[in-house]
Amino acid sequence: MNLSAHGGKLVNIPDVSDREAHHTIEVSYGTAIRIMNMKMGILSPLKGFMGESDFHSVVENQRLENGLPWSIPYTLDIGEKEFRCVRAGDTVRLSQNSGVIAIMDVTDIYRYDRIEYCRKVFGTTSTDHPGVRNIRESTGICMAGEIKSANLPEIPFLKETLFPVDTRQIFLERGWKTVTGFQTRNVPHRGHEEMQRTALRVTDGIFINPVIGKKKPGDYRDEIIMKSYDTLINNYYPSNRVLFSPLHYEMSYGGPREAMIHAIMRKNFGCTHFVVGRDHAGIGNFYGPYDAQKNLQAFELGIEIMNMDEVFYCKKCEQLATSRDCSHVDGDRVHFSGTMVRDTLKNGLSPETYLFRKDVYETINRHDNKFVERV
Ligand SMILES: [Zn+2]
Repeated sequence: MNLSAHGGKLVNIPDVSDREAHHTIEVSYGTAIRIMNMKMGILSPLKGFMGESDFHSVVENQRLENGLPWSIPYTLDIGEKEFRCVRAGDTVRLSQNSGVIAIMDVTDIYRYDRIEYCRKVFGTTSTDHPGVRNIRESTGICMAGEIKSANLPEIPFLKETLFPVDTRQIFLERGWKTVTGFQTRNVPHRGHEEMQRTALRVTDGIFINPVIGKKKPGDYRDEIIMKSYDTLINNYYPSNRVLFSPLHYEMSYGGPREAMIHAIMRKNFGCTHFVVGRDHAGIGNFYGPYDAQKNLQAFELGIEIMNMDEVFYCKKCEQLATSRDCSHVDGDRVHFSGTMVRDTLKNGLSPETYLFRKDVYETINRHDNKFVERV
């Protein structure tokens, strides 16, 4: 198990007790989730929203001002109205659906250049990129400060959700010295399974930690992801070697930069290894297939990055393979793609069992509403 959290100590922010505040600001669900992840130490060492010097250091160098690797700014965007009335030194109450989420002491309020942010963090300013779209639609004004206390927001699957204190305890009890963190945002096809089995062969345990929360239209609904993994884990994996929990998190599709945040979060859960596959956290053709792996190599993250090549089915080898262990040409290979499985589902067909487990597929197919329609 990874004993040290990122930056040394696992953050733990206490619950809100009544405290006077100068202002109350309503925040989005995404912000409430980020605060929850700070409170529970998933984003250690962050204890609040970044001030201007950390912001610029992260954008320019993928490091906090103190030198610790960190690749995407965590900011609290505010509107012009708050910009006019909130001052550094004020205490603000952050609320969501009129419930108190957090109390924050404001240290800093600043504006940033949104185009410059997108160019450096996402490597593009194209509004076809959802992360870029989010930033360009924001105000470009942030309020920085330390979260003094915070409450858990209302989240789905709370009972199934494990936080770093829980996972660290379980890894300890199970005697796992090495643990692989596995990031996903999809139902498991045989390619994912092959990567998970590869990890199971070389580390004591695997922590499967799919992202749930805000989705794009066409994505699988959270419930479908949860149930399909239930089937895979219960029917195929040794139960004492796998731990499963959803991660409440909003993807920004930042490819190479977002991969670093994914790795850091799993380090905070206590993982010693983290799988980075092909086009990790990417979208469309914005990033090269192995850019994320390359980016992570340049940093000392304190978690071992397990680079994995694309898994495909090779008709000549008659098995799942990667280009590291198969000599055949592309025409012999069947590549996995999200649309392949989706089209099969839509047409009511059964996928080839070398691409998709029959029982996993049936679990998915049992549901009428498999996909997110709109957000
Ligand atoms: Zn082959």
